[in-house]
Amino acid sequence: MMDELLICGSGASEAVPALFCTCDLCKEAWKRGGKDRRSRTAYQLGEEIRIDFGPDIMLHRERYGLHYENLKHLFISHPHRDNFTPIQVNYHIHGEEGPALLAEGDLTLHGTKPVLDQFKSNLTCDFSRMRMVLDELEEDFGTRTLENGIRFSFLWANHYCEGALNYIIEMPDSFTFFIGTDTGKFQEETWKILSNYQFDMMILDGTAGLLDIEEGGHMTAKQVLSSVERMRKEGIVKDSTRLITNHFAHCAKMLHSDLEAFYLPHGIEPAYDGMKVALKKN
Ligand SMILES: [Zn+2]
Ligand SMILES: [Zn+2]
Repeated sequence: MMDELLICGSGASEAVPALFCTCDLCKEAWKRGGKDRRSRTAYQLGEEIRIDFGPDIMLHRERYGLHYENLKHLFISHPHRDNFTPIQVNYHIHGEEGPALLAEGDLTLHGTKPVLDQFKSNLTCDFSRMRMVLDELEEDFGTRTLENGIRFSFLWANHYCEGALNYIIEMPDSFTFFIGTDTGKFQEETWKILSNYQFDMMILDGTAGLLDIEEGGHMTAKQVLSSVERMRKEGIVKDSTRLITNHFAHCAKMLHSDLEAFYLPHGIEPAYDGMKVALKKN
């Protein structure tokens, strides 16, 4: 369904409970289950559009009944291992020389050069047989309009690697939303771009939770609040804008109930695996 966004995963790189971890938060997350179990962050928009394709793609497929054979656009925000598992894309063709397995048409992989380089260096099969198109996103604030009229714009994230992007997505009915789940504090250039918009929904990076860091590739809970405060002041968000925070790390020491206690009074919802967000104006 194109009128909702599925939040397939809501955890940071190591998931929650984190792999191999025995910290208190992970032990408690095991006990509580439910919204405290978080797979790696990724998003699905209808059958055809996927944002990030990390190590939990199989889990997501089983849990949500996703059919990747129908994908037409794969947007990879950046080349970190929780966002992209390029080796899995090789299953696009049967064996090493077999036919491509997509239902129909081609799959376009949209990403910056580091993402495409990572894809190429993990190829185990002949790319010319893959029915894939590579779309290199070069310029800051580039845009792509898809065949169904959905428009993606890209802006640089303040993250730990080259070529990391956040997205502004405009639906054909003008519903406009933002996905920025891997970024530290917004730079002034980013604020300049954001100030040209009034979003209907925003997903912000809440990775660092209660950690005491000022400058990093992720936002702390406090930084989410101060970003939202500035957005409200600048009219980037309005009263009816749905605000969501996502990509939670076990080391940030917030269980789902802590996230709710912290964020809900400020009109911000913490995400969880399987959350569906309606893409309709309030
Ligand atoms: Zn842990
Ligand atoms: Zn990352």
